[in-house]
Formats: sequence, C-alpha cells, structure tokens
Amino acid sequence: MTISYDLKPIIVRKAFASAVPADLSAKTSLIGLTRDEMAKALQSIGVPVRQVHMRLSQLWHWLYVRGVSSFDDMFNISGELRNRLAGRFSITRPRIVAEQVSNDGTRKWLLRFPSCGAGRSVEVETVYIPQEGRGTLCVSSQVGCLLACSFCYTGTQRLVRNLTAEEILAQLLTARDCLRDFPDKNTPGGAIVPQERRKISNIVMMGMGEPLYNFDAVKKALLIASDGEGLSFSRRRITLSTSGVVPKIYRVGKEIGVMLAISLHAVDDELRNILVPLNKKYPLAELMEACRNYPGLGNACHITFEYVMLKDVNDSVKDARKLVALLKGISAKINLIPFNPWLGTNYQCSDWKQIEHFADIVNKAGYASPIRTPRGRDILAACGQLKSQSKPLRKMERLQLEVGV
Ligand code: SAH
Ligand code: SF4
Repeated sequence: MTISYDLKPIIVRKAFASAVPADLSAKTSLIGLTRDEMAKALQSIGVPVRQVHMRLSQLWHWLYVRGVSSFDDMFNISGELRNRLAGRFSITRPRIVAEQVSNDGTRKWLLRFPSCGAGRSVEVETVYIPQEGRGTLCVSSQVGCLLACSFCYTGTQRLVRNLTAEEILAQLLTARDCLRDFPDKNTPGGAIVPQERRKISNIVMMGMGEPLYNFDAVKKALLIASDGEGLSFSRRRITLSTSGVVPKIYRVGKEIGVMLAISLHAVDDELRNILVPLNKKYPLAELMEACRNYPGLGNACHITFEYVMLKDVNDSVKDARKLVALLKGISAKINLIPFNPWLGTNYQCSDWKQIEHFADIVNKAGYASPIRTPRGRDILAACGQLKSQSKPLRKMERLQLEVGV
C-alpha cells in the first residue's frame, strides 16, 4: 500500500490499475504505521513539530493500549484536533462477517477488509484458541496461498493478495475487542487488562498464507505488536511459521526477533517435494542450514518443527529416526500435528498409536515432541483448514506479486 499523507491520488501499481480503481476518498489508516510514519502523518495535518512527540505517544496509547476505534474516544485530545485527525485518517475495524465458536471454545472470525491502495476487498479468517493458562491467536498474512502444499486446505485457494500491515494488526485488535482484552470503552480511563490476565497471550503467524512471502508487512505488524508502549507482546510469545522460504529466515531472527517454526513434514527431498512443493526451490539441506544459522538459536531459544502426521505417508519408524538425524545439533522442539481432514483430500490422519510411537522415538532422542491436540475442527478452524471465498488474482496480478517475492 502506498501511504498518502496529503490529498494526492493514491499511486496504484500499473498492473492493478484497471482491476482496482483507486478510491481517492479513502482515508489513510493510522493502524499499522510505524512511529516515524505516524509522526509524519501528524505533521501533515498541521501538528507543530514541538508537539509531535507528545501527540504521537497519546495516539499510540489510545490505539494500542486502550484499543479505541473512534477518535471521539480520545478524551485527552482536543475536539479540534480530533476532527482534523478524523478528516484525514481512519482507525476503524474491519467488518466481522461471521463468528463461529467451536464446542471446544475455539473461535473463528471471518473479517472483511475494504479495498486498499493496491488490492481489492477481501475476506480473511482469524482463529482464537483458548488453552490452560494461555490463549493463542492464529493470524493470517495473505488471502489464499501461492504455495499449494498438497495436504493444506488453504493451499486450494489460490493467492488473492497479500495483507497490509494494517490488516494483519487489525485481526489482533478485532480479536481483542471481541474477547474484551482492551479496557471497557464505556468507562473512560477504565482499568487496563493486566498482561497476565489477557485472553490473548500468544500470537502465531499460522493462519492463511505464507508470512515470508509478505515479509515487509508482517515485519511491520509484528514490530508494532511487540512495541513495549503499545500492545506489548513479548517476542518470545510470537511465533512465525514458514514452509521454508530460505532467503528470508535469517531476516526473521535479525529484524523481527520472534520465534521461528518450520513446516517440515518430511525428512527427504523426494517426499517433501510432494507435500511442500516449495522444497523444489529450497531443498532440505538449504533449509536446515538456514535453521542452524538462525540468530540467537541455542540461548534458551529453539526452533519448532511442525510435522503433520499423514497415515502411511510420513509416519513410519524410519521417518522418525531420520527426523532425529536431520535435526542433530539444532536446538529444536517437534510439534506433531494430527492431520486435519477437509472435503476432497486423499490424505488421512495417522492412527493415534502410530503418532504416539513416533513421538516416543523423537522424545527418547532428547527432543520435546508434543502431539498437538486438534482444536476447532468442527468449525474448520484447525491448522490448514482456513479458507475464504475471496476471488483469486488474475494471472497478470499474480505475476506482479511473485516478482516482488
Ligand atoms: N504457510 C505457513 C503458515 C500457515 S500453515 C506454513 O506453512 O508454515 C500453519 C501450519 O498448519 C503449518 O505447519 C502447516 O503445514 C499446517 N497444516 C496445513 N494443513 C494442515 C492440515 N490439513 N492438517 C494439519 N496441519 C496442517
Ligand atoms: Fe500455504 Fe502454509 Fe498451507 Fe503450504 S501449509 S499451502 S505454505 S498456508
């Protein structure tokens, strides 16, 4: 998205111009702007330079600590400035098209984002998983996915578009609204929910899409989510999962500093090429090398390897032993994910006994190997079951995005 601080038309990349008419009246959202960008935004509406720092702190607090979605609620900012802000900027939430609650308490929201500078309006799924002592929000980074892993339902929806930093953050803000993780807006100055009582304690970038094919927006959103004067999520409580975009892995550790999860799923190239076709571009040897070089690894920091359990495909004793050999020397934890079925797939979930046997081998080799309890299967909210009805990109638009990867 091109950010426009004045009323010049939004610049749309040429290939998108005919498909997505720029909405010249659209206001720039303040959500998702870095502090520097927000400071410039304030100056563009005439806030004097000497006041910018103070106004910025106020805005940041209102947006990310108090979670307001209307300028009217910012009661320590003068009515005159609130009007100026509202005239040029927006802080509204996406529309909640649907909310489903699973019988295990998992919640799934379908959110609709209006068209932005470089893309059409889209629908995205976000999932909240309450657990003993914590709650995890599973956030999407793209609508659909380019990578088409053969066992993943999201992969059957072709890529529609990347989400902007604003849209990634908006999933978190909307979920916190719905779960009452922000102070009550009807009590101005009401108590802030203490960190340890927050419903959302962890964030995983494991929703729709491949986050490392949308690196810049994901980075921006996660840096804002972990900003200590705002949403304040510890980087240790944010996990980014990738199917293995090798050239970006180092940058995740260096520039974002969050926990890394790798969707491994197979221990040799032949099978991984089928399950995770990206492996043809970045084979296992390169992927493991990138993992060994992940910044900070070993200092109480591990990489999580995700391994979906597919009956008679990757769940043999031999696979388990090869997995242990492959991870040698890497500080790792292995999440065994029972395959979540979807209509039309030919894969089946491994038998429970086989999963336990597999876990046992890995565990005895010294790696934590929890078996992930499937959550929200009844509302198609479990891993790899997310999908929306948004239309895929036309060929020309898709090419443009791939070139940017
Ligand atoms: N694109 C990223 C993040 C989203 S997928 C990635 O692939 O890592 C989140 C996790 O769910 C990944 O580990 C993915 O492999 C797994 N997954 C996908 N489909 C699944 C399914 N049907 N059953 C269980 N896990 C699945
Ligand atoms: Fe995309 Fe991840 Fe699904 Fe593969 S597993 S298709 S990378 S969302």
